Amino acid sequence: MFRTTVRQFIQKEFAPQQARWRQQHGPDADAWTRAGGAGILLTDVPDAYGGGGGTFAYEAVVLEELARAGVHFGSSIQSIVAHYILAYATEEQKHHWLPRMARGELVGAIAMSEPAAGSDLQGIQTTARRDGQCYVINGSKTFVTNGSHASIICLAVKTDPKVAGLKGLSLIIVETKDLPGYRVGGSLDKIGMHAQDTCELFFDDVRVPAANLLGPTEGKGFSQMMERLPYERLTVGVTAVATAERAVAITTKYVKERTAFGKPLLEFQNTRFKLAECKTEAHIGRVFLDSCIERFIAGQLDDVTAAMAKYWLTDCQCRLVDECLQLHGGYGYMMEYPIGRMWADSRVQRIYAGTNEIMKELISWSL
Ligand SMILES: Cc1cc2nc3c(=O)[nH]c(=O)nc-3n(C[C@H](O)[C@H](O)[C@H](O)COP(=O)(O)OP(=O)(O)OC[C@H]3O[C@@H](n4cnc5c(N)ncnc54)[C@H](O)[C@@H]3O)c2cc1C
Repeated sequence: MFRTTVRQFIQKEFAPQQARWRQQHGPDADAWTRAGGAGILLTDVPDAYGGGGGTFAYEAVVLEELARAGVHFGSSIQSIVAHYILAYATEEQKHHWLPRMARGELVGAIAMSEPAAGSDLQGIQTTARRDGQCYVINGSKTFVTNGSHASIICLAVKTDPKVAGLKGLSLIIVETKDLPGYRVGGSLDKIGMHAQDTCELFFDDVRVPAANLLGPTEGKGFSQMMERLPYERLTVGVTAVATAERAVAITTKYVKERTAFGKPLLEFQNTRFKLAECKTEAHIGRVFLDSCIERFIAGQLDDVTAAMAKYWLTDCQCRLVDECLQLHGGYGYMMEYPIGRMWADSRVQRIYAGTNEIMKELISWSL
């Protein structure tokens, strides 16, 4: 029943807007409150905090339906931010922020990456200096998804510049409305994912309440990220499998309709074999993903398996989408065709949420 509701909402409200969202490099501002009204935000946050009160399975349904419709909307980032708050904020803060996030009145973003800090977060240069009851934040962030609409940011900062490495990192929640010294850069010109806004953010003597530090003390940022990243990686895996399944479905339809040498493309053995391989790999991905989701819901998804899922499922997605594009011939290279857009949109899945090389590094530590 939940899937049907989500599907209908996305088909009616979001799918028809995609071309415009792509042109304007982001969703309409009111898309967030409409999503909140439909109950598709924070589906796996307890209802005591305004969330849907479901398990991660509900989040997976939303992500699958977005991917199935070819809609890019940063609801997973909204959930990721909510889970940082759920895990590390005070009870009062949870009641203050989460219901508004569930209604889409606050839009969440995660701001970790900086020009000199992507895979290697030791390079973070944005600082938060304690000054009485405030932190004073200076620095900049890049590649921030949902950046232009973001009104609540989970920000990675150095609270202790004297401490080398990752120990000086902390996470601070920043509410951006009417915040002096806070500035959003223009939308970055990406090769895909055009319907999602990705920006730079600038902080110039920005003051936030000291109570917005996540966790009891400074210096916990890196361990908090390590605890929460499996959730983010699993969401990426869900989108990967749903996209791969969609690629196989639309390509199967296409090769039945398109003819060459007097017969449908599907009658060439190469077409059938390639699609047979793709369908098999998508199925393997689905079984692995469902196992990860079950383990996550049971509280048993370890970091290594989450890294395996992120790396393998996104590699699989890109491989399949590329094969499926090939079966479309020149039309596959046209942005007008969904497979062309999927090809460009898929590529970043191997890069964000920790690159696939970093995933292999993590997996190798378990050898
Ligand atoms: C569209 C998009 C959206 C994004 N959204 C967000 C967001 O919302 N919030 C956010 O904070 N960030 C976001 N990012 C940033 C993303 O997480 C980083 O791009 C990613 O972590 C890689 O960092 P980097 O780009 O600095 O690459 P680098 O770290 O410079 O890596 C370059 C290459 O070197 C490899 N490499 C680096 N270290 C190692 C190593 N130890 N071993 C082997 N290979 C290595 C990498 O795998 C990669 O191939 C987004 C990025 C994009 C493109």
